[in-house]
Amino acid sequence: MTDNRRVDLHLHTVYSDGDLTPEALVTQAVALDLAAVAVTDHDTVMGVEPVRLAAEGTGVEVIPGVELSASRGLSDIHILGYCIDPTDPSLLRALELFRQKRYERALEMVRRLRQVGLPVRMDLVLGFAGDGSIGRPHVARALLEQRLIRDFEEAFLKYIGYNGPAYVPKHRLEPSEVFDLIRGAGGVAALAHAATLRRDELIPEFVAQGMQAIEVWHPRHEDGVWEHYRHLAEEYGLIMTGGSDSHGRRTGLPNFSEVEVTYASVRALKRAAGMRSEGR
Ligand code: AMP
Ligand code: ZN
Ligand code: FE
Ligand code: FE
Repeated sequence: MTDNRRVDLHLHTVYSDGDLTPEALVTQAVALDLAAVAVTDHDTVMGVEPVRLAAEGTGVEVIPGVELSASRGLSDIHILGYCIDPTDPSLLRALELFRQKRYERALEMVRRLRQVGLPVRMDLVLGFAGDGSIGRPHVARALLEQRLIRDFEEAFLKYIGYNGPAYVPKHRLEPSEVFDLIRGAGGVAALAHAATLRRDELIPEFVAQGMQAIEVWHPRHEDGVWEHYRHLAEEYGLIMTGGSDSHGRRTGLPNFSEVEVTYASVRALKRAAGMRSEGR
């Protein structure tokens, strides 16, 4: 076995704001001949086990993951956790709190939308979220379903985008708290799509706080950009990860025409996760 088999280490499912079911995700992974996929839903690990079950017998390895949000000033910092124990009690407690906060946030967004004249229904928002993490895309889908907007984008452009009248910030932790949670659950923390954050100056501090990896390959990292992050990874001794960040149909199915990530990343992540638990 060589290490250059392809993998996708950034995928969202119906358990957060993606529209890939576990079965659809695995079907796509098989079609692309991927050796491994990481399930990285926002604020939940509920999709990990269903994807594992769907992947049984296919040869696709499933890496348990999560994508958490931290804040620093106005910046929204996305942090991926890999090789976490999805049953870790502290992690699950934190995710339960996120779930509660997301519910309250959705209620507040619905209230504000009503104030600006859009009688969006909370039951529809909840229905679109299903069992998973409720987010702005579910609010957008409800608005669309009720024909209160013309297309999905309009929700963000006019109402729930960062400067919109119904935008409510998410519950977010300090980056160091997120690193602690991920490491506490036996995992490895990676800075997600660093180019969308545009705060490279924070990287040394994150490394000192326990971040061990960085997402080098991402559809929004064009040529030149990913090379830049590869150099930073080398400079700081960070594991290089990457993936399609697919949310299903909305952002395009997982596709590897642009993103080249190999099983070498998985090996490095597993080694880092394993090394720490041995050292405990
Ligand atoms: P939330 O985590 O609830 O704040 O929702 C964030 C999600 O909303 C992101 O993962 C995107 O998928 C989606 N999103 C954010 N901005 C836009 C936009 N302008 N157009 C479409 N989807 C967006
Ligand atoms: Zn998302
Ligand atoms: Fe993200
Ligand atoms: Fe993502």
